[in-house]
Amino acid sequence: MMSADELYMHRCLQLALNGEIGAPPNPMVGAVIVCDDRIIGEGFHARCGEAHAEVNAFASVSKADERLLSQSTLYVSLEPCAHYGKTPPCADLVIRKGVRRVVVGCIDPFAKVQGRGIQMLRDAGIDVTVGVLEQECRWLNRKFFTFHTHHRPYITLKWAQTADGVMGELGGGPLLISNPATLRHSHHLRATNNAILVGWRTNVNDSPSLTTRHYSGPNPRRIVYDSHAETIPQLLSRLYSEGVQSLLVEGGAATHSQFLDLGLWDEIHQELGMPRHREKLLLSNALFERAAHRLSAKPVPISKSCESEAAIKSEELGVKPQTKIICAPKLDLLPSWQETIGTHRILHYYNYK
Ligand SMILES: [Zn+2]
Repeated sequence: MMSADELYMHRCLQLALNGEIGAPPNPMVGAVIVCDDRIIGEGFHARCGEAHAEVNAFASVSKADERLLSQSTLYVSLEPCAHYGKTPPCADLVIRKGVRRVVVGCIDPFAKVQGRGIQMLRDAGIDVTVGVLEQECRWLNRKFFTFHTHHRPYITLKWAQTADGVMGELGGGPLLISNPATLRHSHHLRATNNAILVGWRTNVNDSPSLTTRHYSGPNPRRIVYDSHAETIPQLLSRLYSEGVQSLLVEGGAATHSQFLDLGLWDEIHQELGMPRHREKLLLSNALFERAAHRLSAKPVPISKSCESEAAIKSEELGVKPQTKIICAPKLDLLPSWQETIGTHRILHYYNYK
């Protein structure tokens, strides 16, 4: 059974998520004030530069309940800040409000805080508990944590492929795999990442707009990656110095493969469309018409390796290998979870610990 501390920390996490779009580059934080098993105040950090969760939680306490603060517990998903940023330190406010106890989800990895907020509270005689639902609290702010501890952006790879592993036809423009519901999913990803990257070839071939047309939120900064100009580690350290906390890599397959080969990824969203896209793609090509009847009986083998492009073998199709198919990267791991959206599935993989 969940303890009372865990229950209220869960509420903090729920509240914190309201800051998903507005809070970054600040972390998402939720706070709840409880007296005798009754929530008398709650708040979250809605927008960078505006009030922190603790400030909003105290401001929400009614006049009648103010007198209860000295017997109350403040729950907060992240350690209260101890430094003057855009707002004064929350640790000072918590001390001034005189709560009896503070329960903290996890310690702030940000160099200016790192346990100092908790120390300030303890020095003031407040009973402090640290680490309730710590994993969940760290998970919520995995982008913020990765940026501050690994000194690089949090990296999400995202692509859509047919169920049989095709991403497109070389030089054939974008192959539309996503449906309206999964588009919303990918535009949510765009809205929650600072920057979006595509390889130069994808940029030339598909000229993607990379905007958040299907989700409300800011458009991420657009980065076109050229491996001749910069290596991926060089790019990542440049983005870190420019304060880019999260990076969404949308392709193409060659770019994804480079990130995968280097082990530089934290999260993958692999969208699987219908296998018939592949047949349609091939049927649309007059060269393959003769082979169409064979396709429905037998799937066309694609390269086993993590190559981004593979020519379909002429003997298997009975035609000249005129068309190159862009194959999706092969993943040698199991998804952490998957969701079904209409006829599509999205497989989620995590490298973040
Ligand atoms: Zn604060």
